[in-house]
Amino acid sequence: MKEQIEAYNNVLELIGDTPLIKLNKIIDGLPGNYYAKIESFNPGHSTKDRIALHIIEEAERKGILKPGDTIIETTSGNTGFSIAMVSVIKGYDCILAVSSKSSKDKIAMLKSMGAKVYVCPANVSADDERSYYQVAKRLHEEIKGSVYINQYFNELNIDAHYNSTGPEVWNQTKGKITHFVACSGTGGTISGTARYLKEQNKDVRVLGIDAFGSVLKKYHETREFDSEEIYPYRIEGLGKNLIPTATDFDVIDKFEKVSDEESAHTARELARKEGLFLGYTSGAAVQGIKQMAAQGEFNEDSIVVVILPDHGSRYMSKVFSDDWMLEQGFVDSKNEIDATRVQFVK
Ligand code: PMP
Repeated sequence: MKEQIEAYNNVLELIGDTPLIKLNKIIDGLPGNYYAKIESFNPGHSTKDRIALHIIEEAERKGILKPGDTIIETTSGNTGFSIAMVSVIKGYDCILAVSSKSSKDKIAMLKSMGAKVYVCPANVSADDERSYYQVAKRLHEEIKGSVYINQYFNELNIDAHYNSTGPEVWNQTKGKITHFVACSGTGGTISGTARYLKEQNKDVRVLGIDAFGSVLKKYHETREFDSEEIYPYRIEGLGKNLIPTATDFDVIDKFEKVSDEESAHTARELARKEGLFLGYTSGAAVQGIKQMAAQGEFNEDSIVVVILPDHGSRYMSKVFSDDWMLEQGFVDSKNEIDATRVQFVK
């Protein structure tokens, strides 16, 4: 009998089933137990692989997407990379409209995965014709046989996490989870996962991480869209200047806002203290945990799961660049960070 070769048929078979890793030194002194779900273990290095695969396969199943068709999306980078990856394997064209706030590295990555990229100004309103929403909408109208993923307003974004992230977290914690923490951008991750978790145990506390400069927290508390809340900020992929329908505000118990500066330092701290080299919003999520712990959110019995959405390699010219930290005023001098760790041998 021939021995079976152990191999995956393609990279898409590796999406999901990401590991849960206990946090240790970074949460030193906080009550309870903290576990991070490391989404950079997905083959596209972020949580967005899950929604790209789910939404595209649903469109195929419904006969909306046919071979050779074009997939269009607006994205801060991660969703685009995941859609481009799925498109390569399944044979679709991929067009991405991205914000000019996205790092150069992210744009180069999309291009290398075969996508066509439109870079749109970041600080214009969502209804401005130059915004990435409007550019994607226009391209969708112009290109015959195109599908617009529309992650901010697509229920399937929630379903992707309801079907995968939710059951994984529940099973990995053996149903013992007491608190679920996730950043909210489109809201798909937090809403889908929380919906599943609350169906299993309605007492699981769901805590969303928002940015200063975003409307989500105030909308959650008052159901009022306050444009006065909006101003530019640095963190990519977290918070919003509009209310996405892919966010189910009813399953979220509380939002906590985090700053650009503290989130950047916490992302660097994750690498140094936990050996976890992750993205800016991973820093934001752990920063949110620290703040909520100080407010008395957790106790000795708490079993807290936090989603850490993507990999640090995407932020080499930002959070992990000492020059960038200096430019932002997040440190006073290069020496304050770790310039001393690099020794030039002459
Ligand atoms: N972190 C990063 C790096 C992201 O790209 C996103 C997606 N915008 C999020 C967090 C938030 O995830 P979601 O869109 O599911 O709310």
